[in-house]
Amino acid sequence: MGIKVTKFGGSSLCDAKHFKQVAEILRSDNERRFVVPSAPGKRFREDTKVTDMLYECYSKAKAKESIDEIYSQIVARYTSIIDELGLDFDMSGEFLYVKNAILHSSGRDYAASRGEYLNGLILAKYLGYQFIDAENVIFFKENGTFDAEKTNEVLAKELAKCDKAVIPGFYGVMPNGTIKTFSRGGSDITGSIVARACNASLYENWTDVSGFMMADPRIIKDPCHIDTITYRELRELSYMGATVLHEDAIFPVRYAKIPINIRNTNAPEDKGTMIVHESNDYDKDKIITGIAGKKGFSVITIENDMMNSEVGFGRRVLDVLESFEVSWEHLPSGIDTMSIVISTSQLEGKCEKIISALERSVNPDHLSVEHNLSLIAVVGRGMIQAKGTSARVLTAIAESDTNIRMIDQGSSEINIIIGVDEKDFEKSLNAIYNEFVR
Ligand code: ASP
Repeated sequence: MGIKVTKFGGSSLCDAKHFKQVAEILRSDNERRFVVPSAPGKRFREDTKVTDMLYECYSKAKAKESIDEIYSQIVARYTSIIDELGLDFDMSGEFLYVKNAILHSSGRDYAASRGEYLNGLILAKYLGYQFIDAENVIFFKENGTFDAEKTNEVLAKELAKCDKAVIPGFYGVMPNGTIKTFSRGGSDITGSIVARACNASLYENWTDVSGFMMADPRIIKDPCHIDTITYRELRELSYMGATVLHEDAIFPVRYAKIPINIRNTNAPEDKGTMIVHESNDYDKDKIITGIAGKKGFSVITIENDMMNSEVGFGRRVLDVLESFEVSWEHLPSGIDTMSIVISTSQLEGKCEKIISALERSVNPDHLSVEHNLSLIAVVGRGMIQAKGTSARVLTAIAESDTNIRMIDQGSSEINIIIGVDEKDFEKSLNAIYNEFVR
């Protein structure tokens, strides 16, 4: 029998009704043994996530303001869940302890992590599962990065000892014993880590949508659903702004080739999207798996005769960027030209200094910076086999009367990146979607 690790997001655990749905999902499949909960999320649009309320508690405590009112709202959220589930569970000691710890500066991450911790305690009690505190099994290194090896070793041993358990998401512990969280949405990462540690056959990530769409529905009307996507394709799309799963959640399971299934807690009958290591199967009619894009890029273009034969030219350019702690996104180049695509936010306040430093370092014939560039990624494993995909993408954009400012085909052959003016962004996305899907 395989093991399934299930992670439930904040919207899946926002109130008692959702807790009941979660319990039903878990009871319907005995392989679902390990559960990773988020903190209670929004119950309606204007509602506030418990994590956000905890961040506010921290800020108020730091400013020596009273946290009584906001903290009592947090307690009320948990209490209503406990009461409506009919649980005989006295959490008053825990609530008091956490409040005091926040007041006595246990840190911002500690405060935020208590959303998952308290929710995990309640969920474990409700399900009758063991509670494994993430602070005993998820480790960070001195420099703040995640300690994958130690975590895997300790967590695997701990999981092997129990049949069913709840492990709260989002946080772990630093070598000095303080609590540290992953970045926002980080319970997805914990779920992936747990799946790797128990060598799960499947990591189910339960949320409030039935998986991924081929494009952002705010830009493309009623986009098609994606049934199967590879880790690599997803990585390309999520880097370009497609969000459902935390970007870093792929790494632990990818390593162990464990598939991820994005599922909808409110529609458990939907199959969702399957994220797999490899798949040769793709929809021959569509070829592409998805399209995503982002605005907010700048391009530095450098021209120099005979650039191709000048040893060290590229290195000197990149050295300058490194000295300003700027990371670049794409580097399309020609014989005598080199363009560097950089997120505009990285250049803020230092653009002019970088230009002067580049002029000093490589003394180019021409150097220019342009802003307001948007990037569009067309991604699909089917593109490796299908001839003429780039031509179709470019023609579709050109026919929408858009000027293409940059093209970069990834060496993996599963993506083509196109740069267009921000004002042409939506139009271009629609043109590509219509060409391949409609
Ligand atoms: N509760 C945390 C957040 O709101 C982590 C998570 O939900 O994954 O970011």
